[in-house]
Amino acid sequence: MTRIVYADNAATTSTAPSVVKAMLPYFTELYGNPSSLYTVGQEAREGVDHARQQVADAIGALSSEIFFTSGGSEADNWAIKGIAHALAAKGKKHLITSAFEHHAVLHSMEALQKEGFEVTLLPVYENGLVKPQDVADAIRPDTALVSIMYANNEIGTIQPIPEIGAICREKGVLFHTDAVQAIGMVDIDVKAQNIDLLSLSGHKFHGPKGIGALYCRRGLRFPNLIDGGAQELNRRAGTENVPGIVGLGAAIQEATADIPGRTARIQAMRDRLIDGVLQIPRSRLNGDRQHRLAGNANFCFEGIEGESLLLMLDAKGIAASSGSACTSGSLDPSHVLLAIGLPHEIAHGSLRISLSDVNTEEDVDAILEALPPIVERLRAMSPLWERIVQNQS
Ligand SMILES: *Cc1c(COP(=O)(O)O)cnc(C)c1O
Repeated sequence: MTRIVYADNAATTSTAPSVVKAMLPYFTELYGNPSSLYTVGQEAREGVDHARQQVADAIGALSSEIFFTSGGSEADNWAIKGIAHALAAKGKKHLITSAFEHHAVLHSMEALQKEGFEVTLLPVYENGLVKPQDVADAIRPDTALVSIMYANNEIGTIQPIPEIGAICREKGVLFHTDAVQAIGMVDIDVKAQNIDLLSLSGHKFHGPKGIGALYCRRGLRFPNLIDGGAQELNRRAGTENVPGIVGLGAAIQEATADIPGRTARIQAMRDRLIDGVLQIPRSRLNGDRQHRLAGNANFCFEGIEGESLLLMLDAKGIAASSGSACTSGSLDPSHVLLAIGLPHEIAHGSLRISLSDVNTEEDVDAILEALPPIVERLRAMSPLWERIVQNQS
């Protein structure tokens, strides 16, 4: 059997064995409802409380500022729609975001536009970075919220979040960041970085799927997304996903325990990968090389189509992606690559390789061995490539 090289950690990660181990008792012995007063319920409550503290500690928040959700998408929806609806009552109906956010943010913004909110989409330029000055210039007296992602999920670029946070705080505008890709990769301190709301998701840092959290600065009030029981301080109803929450807590603690050490190892593998892949003629790296997540590499190869590339890599046991997992299956080119100015035909030929701390140097070797002949084969069959070569001669 071919060895599987999993290189799509921006789509999801494997759950760490230590995380699974932490979760297991909450299925079998500590299965009580945290809202129940008897012992087995209160033991589950302790697990939830402990995890809330672990999440808070990882981002410099208070445990009372952490609300568990079903994942990153729910946290994004809740933050954006909640703040928009709360501040609309005060006449603030203007929202600012960037053109290359995750769809959980962009589609929430579109839903609000249909309700009469006005949305400014900031450009991200060829390097895939938002300019803090653009944020400052876009803020108006009626601006309710700025939402800029911490790191992009396709091209991995890390945004100047502390600068943007300082601008928003100075101008008295609330600031939300989707930090789903950044947890465990970048030092995040919500207080020092002036972040009012932050979304995170367990399955992007070796935690379980279907669990995430919204950090919401103390004192901020906005409507609930899910109404019902009194869980999560009356703000997010539904019996807690106790094993998931415990797993999220364990995973975020591990992911943030030694960020410099963890990222240095991943980045060394990633840099060797980038240098090797860019040997392929007419290939390019998308997004700024310096300000990017340690594990992210995103390439374009002229003259070929991303989907065929992925299928041929898969046949060699290599799991990678073209753009994001959420848009594959649709034939539209990535909105992220279009936002950094790539023409449609090039945005179709993209490849995202995202490494995590469970990848090895052997994985990088396998990718560097498999990729060049696949690109060559696809180009040999491509009418587009033929045209590119003819135009050149
Ligand atoms: C994966 C991801 C999400 C969605 O998180 P889920 O937990 O899968 O809902 C949101 N934003 C970014 C940047 C992501 O990478």
